[in-house]
Amino acid sequence: MAPNISEDVNGVLFESDAATPDLALARPPIQKADNKPKQLVWRNIILFAYLHLAALYGGYLFLFSAKWQTDIFAYILYVISGLGITAGAHRLWAHKSYKAKWPLKVILIIFNTVAFQDAAMDWARDHRMHHKYSETDADPHNATRGFFFSHIGWLLVRKHPDLKEKGKGLDMSDLLADPILRFQKKYYLVLMPLACFVMPTMIPVYLWGETWTNAFFVAAMFRYAFILNVTWLVNSAAHKWGDKPYDKSIKPSENMSVAMFALGEGFHNYHHTFPWDYKTAELGNNKLNFTTAFINFFAKIGWAYDMKTVSDDIVKNRVKRTGDGSHHLWGWGDKNQPKEEIEAAIRINPKDD
Ligand SMILES: [Zn+2]
Ligand SMILES: [Zn+2]
Repeated sequence: MAPNISEDVNGVLFESDAATPDLALARPPIQKADNKPKQLVWRNIILFAYLHLAALYGGYLFLFSAKWQTDIFAYILYVISGLGITAGAHRLWAHKSYKAKWPLKVILIIFNTVAFQDAAMDWARDHRMHHKYSETDADPHNATRGFFFSHIGWLLVRKHPDLKEKGKGLDMSDLLADPILRFQKKYYLVLMPLACFVMPTMIPVYLWGETWTNAFFVAAMFRYAFILNVTWLVNSAAHKWGDKPYDKSIKPSENMSVAMFALGEGFHNYHHTFPWDYKTAELGNNKLNFTTAFINFFAKIGWAYDMKTVSDDIVKNRVKRTGDGSHHLWGWGDKNQPKEEIEAAIRINPKDD
């Protein structure tokens, strides 16, 4: 493993970035943010303000006015668009943590377009920067700037010059070579409104006689704002609250509430420690991880393959060296519990069966 990365890189992105046997960088990461005033982007502020007001109204209609079919449809769209981000833009395209045959790629690009978080190629570029320059000014949603900035604030201001500067050196060749990603990006301004707003409004109206108001505000606006905020919580809450069993020198944390809503993307301390693991969580830890179940299903029919993961041994070595001691697998009698620890423990009324 010969690291060939520049000094200012602040997190591993692919396995080839790792410089230690337990897959870390050669030095501990840093956290920094400059205090330059931010330039506001008023167009985005107004659009996001409208979206959230419309989503509040949609949430009210979801509870008190829409037909049950519309509510179920909105829920299905939430799962579909979530998978377009988690299984598609994130685990497949940004991290290359598994490979997909073209029918699965087509499914994922449709799901991804319903999610409207920009073209998957652009999402993957931002996300690679987020891992590689994590918690510095070249990280698009640098959590060192605080909860609001890492949640939505980063979309309301001009990008930091460091992000543009260091972004030039990012390898995007695999994404640019993918015709499905290129097609989505080329026609995004036609495909996205159809997938995210027009189709979700028309289906309830024409298939089960929903009103236009209910269909638009529930299945389009409320559902869209909901999955957006869930995705942002991975950048904000999961970079702030939770244990750090794998690496205590970084902000990303294991956050179960986020994992539940984000279809398995809340095991964020693990994910930033080993970003190329297709499960974004430790081996055997598949609870609350619907995205992993989704990929495993497609692996069974051969459409997903070459899934990368990290061996138990490497994870355990890393937990011992850089973890915060909260790792859940180490209970009394675990075969990896050190002898000294067993001997040093105080036991009340001991009895070995
Ligand atoms: Zn992160
Ligand atoms: Zn990631």
